[in-house]
Amino acid sequence: MSRKSLFTDLLGIQGWRVKAGGVRIEEDGVVVEIEPKRPGFRCACCGQGVLFAYDHQPVRRIRDFPVWGRRCHLEVQFARVDCPDCGVGIEEVDWVKRYGRYTQRYELYVASLCDLLPVTDVAELEGLNKNAVYKIDKKWLKRREEQREEPPVRYLGIDEIAIKRGHRYATVFYDLERRTVIGLVKSRRERAVGGFFRRWGKKQCKSVVAVCMDLWSPFLNSVRRHCKEAVVVFDKFHVYGYLSKAIEGVRRHQQNVCSDEDGKLIKGSRWLWLRASKNLKRKQTHTLDQIMAINKPLAKAYLLKEDFEAFYECEGREEAKKFLTQWMKRCRESRLEPFIKLAKRLKLSQPSINVRLRKLKDKGITADDIGSMDDLRHLPFTF
Ligand SMILES: [Zn+2]
Repeated sequence: MSRKSLFTDLLGIQGWRVKAGGVRIEEDGVVVEIEPKRPGFRCACCGQGVLFAYDHQPVRRIRDFPVWGRRCHLEVQFARVDCPDCGVGIEEVDWVKRYGRYTQRYELYVASLCDLLPVTDVAELEGLNKNAVYKIDKKWLKRREEQREEPPVRYLGIDEIAIKRGHRYATVFYDLERRTVIGLVKSRRERAVGGFFRRWGKKQCKSVVAVCMDLWSPFLNSVRRHCKEAVVVFDKFHVYGYLSKAIEGVRRHQQNVCSDEDGKLIKGSRWLWLRASKNLKRKQTHTLDQIMAINKPLAKAYLLKEDFEAFYECEGREEAKKFLTQWMKRCRESRLEPFIKLAKRLKLSQPSINVRLRKLKDKGITADDIGSMDDLRHLPFTF
């Protein structure tokens, strides 16, 4: 094998070869002069073939892979072609972008270095401008992102997070199985949440088996609309949050309406109501008993909250459903505004239980499927 064709094989760019005697070592690394193997060009505008060159551009240096530890530059003179359709313009080649300073494969190499090292280190290592490295990294990240086929999400989590101070919220979407964030919208309104599902696509929405989320009706409505087949699961953590809020609402109201002396007692008891009864010290239990003896609404509220524990002891859906219906009835009859509200909220989530269960059966999804979700988030109640 001649030295020339050996170099051409090493170069590995289809349709191009290393010029005779075209390899030299300079201070900056190896410089390789290359030329097309045969005549014939392609118009960069429309892609049609043109046999002859119109003229040639000045010599350009294009950075390529390192050669045996040295930096490597390709020297090339691109042709301009006179395309019958587009006029005079530069020829097209597939291994470097028009007017690009790096070969595509070198960019990919730099981008993969960026996976391992900070951009500044890559820039120093390769003797490149920091901004250029940053640009390359961004470009290839985007390209890889576009090419990646998203795996189907079976268990979707939806959560709200507060952004900035005040009442600004964002909605985060999680893949609960892979424990990754798959999306974020800067609002918790139904339109924005629905927008995520639309962008996500029908195919993805269809693959969702269960959604775990907060008792927030815009979430629920969006999920019902876009992931019709999915089982909705409410997060235990959120449910307790609502219970705590309800009892705190009752406590604050009672503190304001009762006599000064009782008010003082109630005021100091704020945190005791929120704690599980089994975690209270004897003295604290005594304080609660004392207050409940003189304040009926708080006693009622506390009972409602404590009794809700039993929900998580329910075995099977039917039992859970029965319990919930009764518990909500008690809320409505309690005449405690915060609990009536909570019951309404839970009721919003109740319709179509039976339809959903039937659908689940049709799809052949077993309790085990949903069971695996229990492990991820201490399963609250499913519909
Ligand atoms: Zn053309």
